[in-house]
Amino acid sequence: MNELALLFLLLPVAALSGWMLGRRGSERTSGARVSELSTSYFRGLNYLLNEQQDKAIEVFLKLAEINRDTVETHLALGNLFRRRGEVDRAIRVHQHLIARPNLSQEEKTVALLELGEDYMRAGLLDRAETLFTDLVAMDALAPSALKHLIAIYQHERDWNKAIEHARRLEQLTGESQGATIAQFYCELAEQARAQGASEEAQARVADAFAAQADCVRASMIEGHIESAAGHLDAAIRAFERVAEQDVDYVPEILSPLLDCYARAQQMQRAERFLLEITERYQGVSPVLALAKLYATTRGEDAAVEFLNHILRQRPSVRALMALIDVNLHTASGDARDNFLILRDLTRKLVEGKAMYRCNRCGFGAKAHHWQCPSCKTWGSVRPIHGVVGE
Ligand SMILES: [Zn+2]
Repeated sequence: MNELALLFLLLPVAALSGWMLGRRGSERTSGARVSELSTSYFRGLNYLLNEQQDKAIEVFLKLAEINRDTVETHLALGNLFRRRGEVDRAIRVHQHLIARPNLSQEEKTVALLELGEDYMRAGLLDRAETLFTDLVAMDALAPSALKHLIAIYQHERDWNKAIEHARRLEQLTGESQGATIAQFYCELAEQARAQGASEEAQARVADAFAAQADCVRASMIEGHIESAAGHLDAAIRAFERVAEQDVDYVPEILSPLLDCYARAQQMQRAERFLLEITERYQGVSPVLALAKLYATTRGEDAAVEFLNHILRQRPSVRALMALIDVNLHTASGDARDNFLILRDLTRKLVEGKAMYRCNRCGFGAKAHHWQCPSCKTWGSVRPIHGVVGE
């Protein structure tokens, strides 16, 4: 709908330039032409307001025919086709436009950029890549072309090329791409780790830190590398650093960190960390971990008392579930039956609920993603806080 609105905003411009051209050519026909355009314009607008997109497009196509000289009209039309998923038609409109001999260099580069986007949308990534690379080489609309190239390399998981082009974008625009480049290095580090190449992984983690000194994901990968190598102190330091850098990522590192504390036999340090995090962080994960720790070190009564205390301060379905589980151990008869019903109910409340949400586009997910699957932003997917969530 936005594109259609844009289209009809452009139409008066089209009508005006048609009128000016008409005036230059023949004073006699210009009046008729303007009135034909404006009648169609209002008819198209009417269709648009009534959500009859197909009819609006039909009117609009006729307008573009009458008004062959208007580049904006063609660009807007092509853009509209692409947004509607009619990529073939978008490609034809843009190719037709580019083939016109009287196009200015600036108009031609805009049309080429649009055509590149059509190719991307059609999945013709090779063609899009060639086109955008040419635009960058011509130094025409290079920042936009570079952004599209980076999107292509991300899609193809060609992280080295993504890094190279992000650096060029940074040089060209002066806007820091450090956080994104750090994510690309983290992708390389994860790849290396998956292949068992821990030295390579460590080198890429260092690159990520060089790009963004407080990169949370790099700290996390470092923790996993050190933990796998049996360097428990280094692993604990890296995971604890995650909580300092961005407390929202605590749920992601709790389990590997607690594993390291246990292997290093540092349960007092674990308790200190969890207590401190419970103060700073409103989520329920460290509370549950602490309750579990109390149950083993001080007995179940201490765990129940702690959970009761926390539940009064911050209502949480997951904390309630933990409390029910602990109570089930000791309950019998009717009380036990009631607890079982409660447990079923609370499970149903949590089941299937999105635990994370992208703070850019609102995409909800059950698991954490470094890059939002919907809007492709890095680091925007965060745990949902609240009674049912984290
Ligand atoms: Zn998103």
